[in-house]
Amino acid sequence: MKDTISAISTPLAASGVAIIRVSGEESKQIAKKVFKSFDKSLKDFEPNKMYVGEISCGDFTDVGMLVYFKGPKSFTGEDTIELHCHGGVAIAKAVFKQTLKCGARPAVAGEFTKRAFINGKLSLSSCEGLIDMINSQSEGSARAGAYLYREKLTKKVNAMQQILTDVLAEIDADMDFPEEDLEKTSVENIKVLIKDVLEKTNALLSTFNSGRVVLSGVKVGIIGKPNTGKSSLLNALLSYEKAIVSDVAGTTRDIVEGSLDLDGVRFNFLDTAGIRDAVDQIENLGVMLSKRVLDESDLILFVVDGSDLQEEDQKIYELVKDKNVIVVQNKQDRCNKKWPKADIIISATTGEGIEELKDLMKEKSSSSVDFSSDFLCEERHFDALTRVKEKLESALSSIDLVTADLLSIDVKLAWDALGEITGVTASEKIIDNIFSKFCVGK
Ligand code: GDP
Repeated sequence: MKDTISAISTPLAASGVAIIRVSGEESKQIAKKVFKSFDKSLKDFEPNKMYVGEISCGDFTDVGMLVYFKGPKSFTGEDTIELHCHGGVAIAKAVFKQTLKCGARPAVAGEFTKRAFINGKLSLSSCEGLIDMINSQSEGSARAGAYLYREKLTKKVNAMQQILTDVLAEIDADMDFPEEDLEKTSVENIKVLIKDVLEKTNALLSTFNSGRVVLSGVKVGIIGKPNTGKSSLLNALLSYEKAIVSDVAGTTRDIVEGSLDLDGVRFNFLDTAGIRDAVDQIENLGVMLSKRVLDESDLILFVVDGSDLQEEDQKIYELVKDKNVIVVQNKQDRCNKKWPKADIIISATTGEGIEELKDLMKEKSSSSVDFSSDFLCEERHFDALTRVKEKLESALSSIDLVTADLLSIDVKLAWDALGEITGVTASEKIIDNIFSKFCVGK
């Protein structure tokens, strides 16, 4: 029998309401000790009803509410109670302490959701979606998380796995002796089924680029010579003073981060010291950071000063021209000539061209997903499906050459990789890693 856990499920801060959640066998007993309903005739708590009453805080009482969920019809699948007390640090902590005193133990991070997973209420990918929803700072990532949480990917993956189960059954039925070849009709049938799963796998894999961007945001590197106006551009884009603007060349040495929400997708900016020959150690570090940013960015804004174009700009252009880049010619208020390589002309100081630049940024990043169809957004799912693809391709390429038992190895490995996504075959290490990303109380 599992023990009963308790946690404060809302942030510990001044707030209207705080919720203490308790899950496990003793939940109802704890509710009876900690909560006194104002309805004196009440004998027992009915599930899914909200009761108003006194919540014990030890030496004093709060007025609040209680809900009882009877397992398995609860989030965790166990008997659960929620105590809704007044918000703020002191009251929430006092109520939490009372639940411990009455028999619960403090929950560790992600323990409620892990119980939901273990009790078969949620698949592993659904749990991941839940973390994504909780951590989301843009509408796009909340929607991507909700897609996973609502088991939409799970359904798709389960259906693909079912086809492979049929393939394995067919191989098994046809295989009297392990070393035997398969019947011709079986081989043709198996090929059709494997190709079907492979097509579905490829379709999902092709959505990852945009799914990842919608979930995690677009990483934007702003690069260029010192003093071209990179910090000013960042400020103009973010509409507030974040990066330090200075006239002295090379003062922006560290990566300065800031984020912008464009149509529900997060654009995360990395501001760098610019690429140029090193003049000192720290500047040198800045150069290294810039090169790293070059490699890691999904989109690069290469800023040049339209009023002071130099050979170095051409050199940087050569470095970035094959990447996903927007060449931004800045300081248009000082110069009206267009550099032929520029994609857009702006002035970070007057704001000219900033809205057009935002449009171009949206265009240049694969930042849209069709939420009504299936897509991938988590790296872990992408890795697993990449293995599914490898194994199915290997199975198809060797199906006419190998014996039935060898064929079933590839198909089984693909089956296992699909199961990693939903959790059916996920290792303890994968599971622990996922739940370690949760906060306490979820
Ligand atoms: P960074 O070194 O590339 O980050 O450049 P900064 O943003 O620090 O800007 C360097 C100088 O150029 C500062 O004095 C800014 O005020 C100035 N500056 C930036 N953008 C513009 C612009 O669009 N027009 C004008 N006239 N000056 C600008």
